Amino acid sequence: MPPPATPHKRNITPLRIVLAYVVAASLWIGLSDHALALLISDPHLLSEAQTLKGLFFITITGLFLYVLMSRAMTALRNSEERFRGIIENAPFGVHLYRLDADDRLVFIGANRAANRILGVDNARFIGMELLEAFPALRGTPVPEAYRKVCRTGEVWSEQQVFYEDERIKGAFEVHAFASAPGTMASIFVDVTERTRLEMARREMDRVKDGMISSVSHEMRTPLTAMLGYLEFMHSNELPVEQRREFLETVLRETERLNQLIGNFLDFQRLRAGQTPLRIAPVPVVSLLQDVQHLFSHCPTQNRVTLQVGDDLPSIAGDYEQVRQVLNNLVSNAIKYSPEGSEIFLGAREDDGAVLLWVRDQGIGIKPEDQEQIFQTFFRVDNSDTRAVGGTGLGLALVREIVHLHRGRVWVDSMPGQGSTFWVRFPAAMPGRM
Ligand code: ADP
Repeated sequence: MPPPATPHKRNITPLRIVLAYVVAASLWIGLSDHALALLISDPHLLSEAQTLKGLFFITITGLFLYVLMSRAMTALRNSEERFRGIIENAPFGVHLYRLDADDRLVFIGANRAANRILGVDNARFIGMELLEAFPALRGTPVPEAYRKVCRTGEVWSEQQVFYEDERIKGAFEVHAFASAPGTMASIFVDVTERTRLEMARREMDRVKDGMISSVSHEMRTPLTAMLGYLEFMHSNELPVEQRREFLETVLRETERLNQLIGNFLDFQRLRAGQTPLRIAPVPVVSLLQDVQHLFSHCPTQNRVTLQVGDDLPSIAGDYEQVRQVLNNLVSNAIKYSPEGSEIFLGAREDDGAVLLWVRDQGIGIKPEDQEQIFQTFFRVDNSDTRAVGGTGLGLALVREIVHLHRGRVWVDSMPGQGSTFWVRFPAAMPGRM
């Protein structure tokens, strides 16, 4: 559709006004002198009439000039107020700078939004040099970019400028452009929240991608073994004894796969907040006895010995989740210890909290691995660990549960000298649960 035609308007330009004035004044002077000479014959009276006519002309011209100038000034004021209103009420911050003869960027003004965004009255920076007013911009591309804008008039934009000083900390989207020769305006928007969300989303994507590739990788190992054994059994007649041996391996690998998927789903549900915690007082002694009982018939003959004092407060926690923490830790202690060695499971009060521990006399963990073992799918890379089946999810699950309970988990260990895993859970306050 063609755009609607705009009505043609004749422009009043200063040149046109002056031309009209010159024509009108010439006509007036020429015609009025002539008319007066015709009407008045007395030279004395004629001279007085001409003086009066001159005064009349000056008055009319003055009035004319006054009307023109006041109209022009009103129009100018209105236009300035309109633009000032736009800038003042804009939802983005505006800063104005002038490049002086010494190549210094002098701060010359700001709008209201700049005060709100930066949390300070920007008027106090007027007359200051850019880096004097905003010292944390040193080392960023901003000062050089602003100078270039002032010199060349080119527009400069940056999606994220990170700024941190004693007053503010955040990320800003900045656009700078020349506003008059040697001066420039910079428009900035606070994008701290947007940047935080973007970074969180990227981190989530990274973790998710990592998980998917780790899970597929971890699933492949037992699946390959199962497939290999089953194919071999399918295409060969095997003696009963060998068949049983192969089936046992397949069973073991299936269990491992089942454990991997189970752990992984538990972990995902916890992370996604889909497993609501049912916080209630958890009686510590019966909890530890429960865990001890679970491992009392373990095939490796490791004995779980309890170390509990009297008068223990209850834990403020979800019984099943807390039990899962201890199960995972005791199961690891057994997995990474010599057959038949003793495992200690203990608890004591610790400054308004309950401190639990699982101590073993196993292979131990090198100091550089002690933080990493709590990450998803991390398994210490040595022959002792490789010999033991595992998913690398047990301790990640432990950490997730403990953090959801606002607790802490850490390990003390020395290679070859065993490990002690510590877990601190908040105690249940009597009468508060
Ligand atoms: P995994 O299923 O491999 O045991 P975990 O997340 O439970 O996964 O443990 C991660 C790694 O931490 C293990 O692979 C092992 O190397 C190490 N680890 C965990 N517990 C112990 C322990 N009690 N003694 C020695 N190493 C341990």
